[in-house]
Amino acid sequence: MIERVIVAEPRGFCAGVEMAIKALTWMVRLFEPPVYCFHQIVHNEWVVKAFERVGVVFVDDMSQVPKGAPVMLSAHGSAPEVIAAARDRAAVVIDAVCPLVTKVHHEVKRMAANGFDIIYVGHRGHDEAIGTLAEAPSQMTLIEPEDGLELFADRAPEKVALLAQTTLGVYEWRQVLEEAQERFPDLVTSRKSDLCYATTNRQEAVQALASKCQLILVVGSENSSNTQALVRVARENGVSAHRIDSAADIDESWLEGVDVVGLTAGASAPDHLVTDVVDRLAPVHGFELLTVTDEEEYFPLPPQLRSFVITLQKLVEGGFAARGAGEGPLERDREWTATEALSLIASP
Ligand code: SF4
Repeated sequence: MIERVIVAEPRGFCAGVEMAIKALTWMVRLFEPPVYCFHQIVHNEWVVKAFERVGVVFVDDMSQVPKGAPVMLSAHGSAPEVIAAARDRAAVVIDAVCPLVTKVHHEVKRMAANGFDIIYVGHRGHDEAIGTLAEAPSQMTLIEPEDGLELFADRAPEKVALLAQTTLGVYEWRQVLEEAQERFPDLVTSRKSDLCYATTNRQEAVQALASKCQLILVVGSENSSNTQALVRVARENGVSAHRIDSAADIDESWLEGVDVVGLTAGASAPDHLVTDVVDRLAPVHGFELLTVTDEEEYFPLPPQLRSFVITLQKLVEGGFAARGAGEGPLERDREWTATEALSLIASP
């Protein structure tokens, strides 16, 4: 029997995911289905299925998009040739890339233009890594964090830069950084690490949880890089940890001899899935929050979507807002949450 559940704060939706989910919600309210989305909007199975039910078609190749269809590009960032192909085919293209991924794309372009060979620490095949590597493929080498730099061959040791996927484990990133600094004394890297605030905050919260519980459950999908990093961080801190898509994935054997369970969620996992886990565990003394920091980050909707909506609003002289999109008018976007957006599409 579980005595207590300690829920990490912050957990779940980050500002980039909030923005992307709200942006795609606008798309399904504005256009007749199907609306096309290049790659999963965010890496969460529940969220993807919710959008599929209202007519979003997720594709991995722009050739799957019919000419003239509305297209959204995912939060993970897209390769320049994908953006060009989308503009070529689609009537409307909205890029829901997270601004913190865009920042890394800019760093790649700047360093490549200055003649650097770039070590990119990331996960092979991940959507974010694919999009970032496409900015300067001939000057970038992908290094998996656990592999270290053995396979990286430099052309000029004084012209090496180090960049990273935003969702790595902090300790994994530090290991590669230290190795790179030792091997390349002139190493250039971003002033702050490329790991985003949401990644680092959620990992700090898991570290804090680790000393207080015997098991940590991480809600999130298998292809969610930051979710997988949370599991690794928990294990690195000596606690048994498992990723689950939902409460249904909990294996009874994990709970044997466990009194206190820690609970968190990756940056793309909806919070109702966390609540379901607490209900499933039914802790005798209930649950408590463990807060390591408050997050106030907010990313506005993509500029192309804002201009499109403003143009439409002008065309219908305000009638648009009153007709149903009023659940998320631009002027109240900061207060409108992705959770509200998801409930809107769940009950059209
Ligand atoms: S995890 Fe970080 S980089 Fe990814 S969408 Fe969220 S804020 Fe942006």
